[in-house]
Amino acid sequence: MRILIATMNEGKLREYERLLADVPGLELVTMASLPEPVNVVEDRDTFRGNALKKATEIATASGMACLADDSGLEVDALGGRPGVYSARYAGEGATDAENNAKLLDALTAAADEERTARFRCAIVMVDGAGRELATVQGACEGRIGRAPKGAHGFGYDPLFIPDGREQTMAELGPETKNEISHRAKAAAKLVPLLRQLQTR
Ligand code: IMP
Repeated sequence: MRILIATMNEGKLREYERLLADVPGLELVTMASLPEPVNVVEDRDTFRGNALKKATEIATASGMACLADDSGLEVDALGGRPGVYSARYAGEGATDAENNAKLLDALTAAADEERTARFRCAIVMVDGAGRELATVQGACEGRIGRAPKGAHGFGYDPLFIPDGREQTMAELGPETKNEISHRAKAAAKLVPLLRQLQTR
């Protein structure tokens, strides 16, 4: 089974190759293999909505089965924000450092018990005609620290302390992250569904 991953990023491809390693005979490729780029505007108000839009539009344009994801951070004290705006919380084209600084600023008055948050990820898989085959979601619960710490990962990892831990995701590093992350949990739910699709 050949699946197009809705990304230009080789790192994301390698991540999915590892997360879906238990599905035999799976060939994953990125959008870099397409003759023309497909641009999708992520304007839905849920992670699932954005992932579905990406997967459907890219499958329709390419004729290939497509897997797309969308993820972000939900902070309870901010009513779930930045949510689908996670990448551009501090403005279009904002850096991770700028987003993290804005988040710390917004939580200045929040006590430790008011700093609960979670990373969420939705993954949608559609066939080559754009029909939805599977949707899975995963979450990683935690809280927002008081200063950025750690050098691993990306995005809000330096501020996010997963439940049951004392260090941030950026201090814990990739091995631990790959066991507990929102993306890993969603992908683990996708494995049995992909195995089923292959035996059809
Ligand atoms: P994407 O949908 O995977 O591109 O993620 C959108 C944004 O959510 C990223 O730019 C990050 O700001 C944030 N985000 C998603 N996943 C993670 C993560 O694993 N760690 C830290 N930040 C994340």
